[in-house]
Amino acid sequence: DALVDEDSEENVKVCIRVRPFNNRELELQRQQTDKPLRSVVAMPDGMAGKVAFYEKTAGASQEYKLSDEFQYTKTFWSVPEEQQPHAFAPVSQEDVYESIGRPMVRYAVAGFHNCVFAYGQTGSGKTHTMMGDFHGQMTPLAGLIPRLCVELFEKVENLRREKQEGIIATAEVKLTAIEIYNEQVRDLMWKLTPGRTKNQSLKVRKHPADGSFFVDQLTVVSPESWLDCLRHIEKAVSERTVASTDMNDESSRSHCIFQLILEQTETVHVVSDDPDERYTKPVTNKKVSKINLVDLAGSERLKKSNAQGQQLKEAAGINLSLTTLKKVIDALVQNSKEINPKRQVLVPFRESALTLLLSDSLGGNSKTTMIACVSPHYDNQEETLLTLRYANRTGTI
Ligand code: ADP
Ligand code: MG
Repeated sequence: DALVDEDSEENVKVCIRVRPFNNRELELQRQQTDKPLRSVVAMPDGMAGKVAFYEKTAGASQEYKLSDEFQYTKTFWSVPEEQQPHAFAPVSQEDVYESIGRPMVRYAVAGFHNCVFAYGQTGSGKTHTMMGDFHGQMTPLAGLIPRLCVELFEKVENLRREKQEGIIATAEVKLTAIEIYNEQVRDLMWKLTPGRTKNQSLKVRKHPADGSFFVDQLTVVSPESWLDCLRHIEKAVSERTVASTDMNDESSRSHCIFQLILEQTETVHVVSDDPDERYTKPVTNKKVSKINLVDLAGSERLKKSNAQGQQLKEAAGINLSLTTLKKVIDALVQNSKEINPKRQVLVPFRESALTLLLSDSLGGNSKTTMIACVSPHYDNQEETLLTLRYANRTGTI
């Protein structure tokens, strides 16, 4: 399969995904009005990327008025047909994978780093997008991570089998799992490292050789199959910190990062051109590519959840990583359009733990995808607008 596809030139993609109305929202609607249910976001071009935001006015009239328009790389409309104003079919988990996950596997095999971020308020569909419904077996509702693992291991098998004459190819996948909570890094596979305790904060260090940043003493596993890999991921997910807020009992206050590291080597026995040399010598090429899968903390502002004390402190930390991520992505987009190296802006990787740790996988030849998840219901319209603005790439298209 060729590396060239419609978006191969674009290193940063920003997508919006609208989840279906949930039961609570449907009930709220039934209680308040007999008008037809409407989404506050509309995607007039289907997946082509345009988003119209309709604000629901307060008071008796309860009208929806167009208040803003945005343009993204792609939009994923996941609202069932009976709940939406559009005639198009909802985008499935498989569609999202085809559009975002599959190219990531292909780029990784080609030797590029990748990142995908799920952004949005709690309950907007981040975890559904990243993990979806996976409990030991594939289902139609399985999200990006399980599908990506299956395909990555399939590719690894193929690479191992593809040994041509005179070429020894090896391919290995490694996995790490961390949580960034209050700007501190925690190992989600801590149980596999003797002497490590839950919630222990690990140090971030700079690699002396290439200047990249890494988590010191982090647990690294080498899964043998996609199922083995997903079992590790499921266990890691169950170690994530959850704290209850007024808004949502299981509101996740941490960023969760899974890193799949693909290491490929190819050893070729080169026959010397020199007629006097009667030997062949082995030349080994090594390619290391990282796939970073990030389920970000809820983006909701504090005043809605009335957090106090420790939670307030956490929220400040979450904000730092989220605001820095936006600055980093905006700077990368700006630099990707700037040919003159002197006019490249500084990318503020060091301002937060999240961006510092991902600095080698953002920018350069790396591919980055942001999936901003939103609710269609007017009850969440303020947060939805903030998410649309966060994901908006200033000055593009
Ligand atoms: P978050 O991780 O952003 O807090 P979740 O992914 O847990 O949100 O989604 C909240 C609820 O909405 C879950 O029950 C999830 O299954 C459901 N949901 C979210 N997105 C979709 C979707 N695209 N299709 C169907 N259900 C969804
Ligand atoms: Mg979640």
